[in-house]
Amino acid sequence: MKNSYIKTPKVKNEKVLLYEPGSKEKDEVLKAYDYLYNKTLNIKLKINGKEIDTKEKINMYPPHDHNHNLGTYSVANEDHVDLAIKSALNAKEKWNDLGFSERASIFLKAAELICGPYRKIINASTMIAQSKTIHQAEIDAACEFADFLRFNVKFAEEIYNEQPVSSNGTWNKLSYRPLEGFVYAISPFNFTAIGGNLCAAPALMGNTILWKPSDYQIFSAKVTMDIFEEAGLPDGVINMIFGDPEMITNQVLSSNQFAGIHFTGSTSVFKNIWKIIGNNIDHYKNYPRVVGETGGKDFIMVHPTANIEEVSTAIIRGAFEFQGQKCSAASRVYLPKSIGREVLDMIGNKLNEIKIGPPNDFQNFITAVIHKNAFERLKSTIQDAKDSKEVKVLYGGNCDDSVGYFVEPTVLVTTDPKYITMEKELFGPIVTVYVYEDKDYSNILNLVDTTSQYALTGAIFAKDRYAIKEALNKLENSAGNFYINDKPSGAVVGQQPFGGARASGTNDKAGSKLNLLRWVSPRLIKEPLLTPKDYKYPFLK
Ligand code: NAD
Repeated sequence: MKNSYIKTPKVKNEKVLLYEPGSKEKDEVLKAYDYLYNKTLNIKLKINGKEIDTKEKINMYPPHDHNHNLGTYSVANEDHVDLAIKSALNAKEKWNDLGFSERASIFLKAAELICGPYRKIINASTMIAQSKTIHQAEIDAACEFADFLRFNVKFAEEIYNEQPVSSNGTWNKLSYRPLEGFVYAISPFNFTAIGGNLCAAPALMGNTILWKPSDYQIFSAKVTMDIFEEAGLPDGVINMIFGDPEMITNQVLSSNQFAGIHFTGSTSVFKNIWKIIGNNIDHYKNYPRVVGETGGKDFIMVHPTANIEEVSTAIIRGAFEFQGQKCSAASRVYLPKSIGREVLDMIGNKLNEIKIGPPNDFQNFITAVIHKNAFERLKSTIQDAKDSKEVKVLYGGNCDDSVGYFVEPTVLVTTDPKYITMEKELFGPIVTVYVYEDKDYSNILNLVDTTSQYALTGAIFAKDRYAIKEALNKLENSAGNFYINDKPSGAVVGQQPFGGARASGTNDKAGSKLNLLRWVSPRLIKEPLLTPKDYKYPFLK
């Protein structure tokens, strides 16, 4: 908008709806679920605002019923990738010139659409595509997604308002330019909100995007694109393509206009992308921004003074919600011997109540894992544990893929604190417990710090404040998000900016100002109001 300084609307986190029995929202989301489940979709690439149907297509199935065909999605070839890059580059100038308030209006409107008319659709599509319970879908696809879009606008305003000091007779200004070129967003299967934010955050700052969602999230990613379109996003600002991730990525990274990558996914994929960028560095016009949030091996460290009910609840929720398929899911637990047995018994009692099945039955706490590969990987990890002398399968351990990819919530107890499941990211409903002698608390903190390559999230449970303080110090670099007496998952945008270091990522904190800063390249403009006319400084006189 010209000729005024705008103030963006006040933001607050979207309220999580409860979907209680008999509620309107429950009725609506189940109707949307049935409608989408029984409709056969043909999802197309979206380049420059146009849908592109390709010859090659891949079928989509919900993880909880792998015989039920949901339709197909189109597969891009090299020409489509080129077209998408061109489309992003062509849209760039107009999008940037549109200005912040107009861009912000589009994303704020998208947030209203998500929380209003599209809520049931984006939640139902996430329940179907990623097999999320309604609660998991609601906190992701509705609330977190809307929070990202709204808080990004507030943070962008703060960034644009940050201006340098101007001394007498001079005016200094910072212009927060978008990056030169286009941004590549690659998103994981597990959060609909992450896919949307990986594109929307750089786009809000004036960049244009090529987005490649995970093959296992396309069903809900399509809803995201529909919402952006309805909110008025101009053609070519976000271009969505699907297909062979290696081919697409190699081609995108070979463009000299590649300006940055906004990635969330596994550590090995991100490291490989970084290597490709390194090898291509002489070719690029600019040093690309490399932003990646990757894997985790998140811990719960328990002190003998911890509350047993709180610990067992945190383990159940932290390890098993969404089948443990959160980068922040608790997957290794250190229990002191004095309370270990009681905590494990309580977990066992709670697990007995838990029901497993498809997400449209609201009694189920656990649904299916994402795909066959994940199922096979988890099943073989459990089998290895059954065969090992160093670990015992205390609870769960059954896997059934006759209808969907169902893995029971599984608790392993190991005598080896470096057993493979204490170190490696499994991304499933498996948690490994190591029981330690109470007197070894301080040493165990060192063990927690050095056991895995990751440093994403972690929690300390204790009443003793000295013990908490010691954990805070010793585990300073072990987690980017650290929780005291709380489960290590469930970060809320604007409240707990999210990300970790070491092999967990570049720690640019999704949903914060720090992340948005990666998508701008500031230009300083200095203007003396009285420009000198004589080269001689006073000391020369
Ligand atoms: P993934 O690494 O398999 O896939 C992520 C994306 O990368 C997908 O779009 C995929 O198609 C693409 N991809 C796969 N192989 C590629 C290749 N060779 N070249 C380029 N792109 C490629 O991850 P996933 O299974 O979708 O998601 C789970 C992973 O994501 C876990 O490791 C989890 O910890 C991580 N994750 C991290 C965060 C975080 O904030 N730190 C959040 C969510 C998920």
